[in-house]
Amino acid sequence: MPAPRLEIDLDKIYHNARTLVDRLASRGISVTGVSKATLGSPEIAGVFLQAGVSALGDSRIENIEAMRYAQVPASMTMIRSPMLSQAERVVRHADVSLNTEIEVIRKLSLEAQKANRRHGVVLMVELGDLREGIMPDDLIDTVRETLSLPNIVFKGIGTNLACRSGVSPDSQNMAVLSKLVDSIEATFGLTVDIVSGGNSANIQWVFSETDTGRINDLRMGESILLGCEPLHRTPIDGLHTDAITLIAEVIESKVKPSRPTGEIGQNAFGEKPTTTDRGHIMQTILAIGIQDIDPCGLQSPVGTEIIGASSDHLLLDSGSYGLSVGAEMMFQLNYSALVRAMTSPFVTKIVKHHRASMVQQDWTSGLPREQ
Ligand SMILES: *Cc1c(COP(=O)(O)O)cnc(C)c1O
Repeated sequence: MPAPRLEIDLDKIYHNARTLVDRLASRGISVTGVSKATLGSPEIAGVFLQAGVSALGDSRIENIEAMRYAQVPASMTMIRSPMLSQAERVVRHADVSLNTEIEVIRKLSLEAQKANRRHGVVLMVELGDLREGIMPDDLIDTVRETLSLPNIVFKGIGTNLACRSGVSPDSQNMAVLSKLVDSIEATFGLTVDIVSGGNSANIQWVFSETDTGRINDLRMGESILLGCEPLHRTPIDGLHTDAITLIAEVIESKVKPSRPTGEIGQNAFGEKPTTTDRGHIMQTILAIGIQDIDPCGLQSPVGTEIIGASSDHLLLDSGSYGLSVGAEMMFQLNYSALVRAMTSPFVTKIVKHHRASMVQQDWTSGLPREQ
């Protein structure tokens, strides 16, 4: 089998998605399955849909287009504010987009008129994490103008926490979102359809709360794919944390000193590394590097330790493991290691199917991209 490779177990992803969909359904909350870490893989999107997600969300229009061309039958939401320069593509391929700038919504309206389409808009509200969002005091005015724009359908409001500053979703900030829904409904005499409370970081809040207010949708990526919640990276009860694993191949294995010899300048990344002397170690090199993964986001097998990385090499203290050249090692990944591995054309993606057959996927170079 080719190395390095990501092994993607669709049964485990199905189980994770299905479990979350069912648990959240009991709270009256639907799941938008976020596909950005899979580069919009139509196959994984298909599994999300079988598991009952109500829509798909992606931050890149290219991924949404790839899923469209593969005829993935779902409502698709562009979850990053559309670029003005991509408004036409967003209107053409996404059913809904999350927005924070009225200028962009005006442009979406123009493009929707030209294309004779209707485009749904969810307005994102700033609730403390200081990434995207309209300041709460400005929301009513933005809703008013959104409602007035031709071919634009005001679908609801949402928020995103825990991404830039790590602000946790809690009863207070979620109650603010619910209150805003009430005030929009009272002001305009309408019913707000979507109240999108956040991402995988909302999991602890949702299951510790008896009253989740008006929140009726969550956008979930990491929790489905990796089985963890991102605030403390704790595994979610009953979910697989090994649905996606990384396999790399050993190209050197030697006993070496743990401390370099000679004068120390900068390394390949402009850092001045410091090392502690722990005598001689069994040093193993794997043929994968910073081009392909985030080394800080990898978990190596028990008894081994990641001690360094450069563009093409990953270095391990392999302890008492006798790893010979050609041997393969398996790693667990966090989200940042996963997205990088998914985007690397040097990492083969192997999808494990239901009947344990394996299919090699090449969706990094084989994607139908718009010219
Ligand atoms: C990435 C993203 C998500 C999904 O986040 P996860 O932590 O993977 O669940 C949801 N909403 C927005 C706006 C995002 O950018």
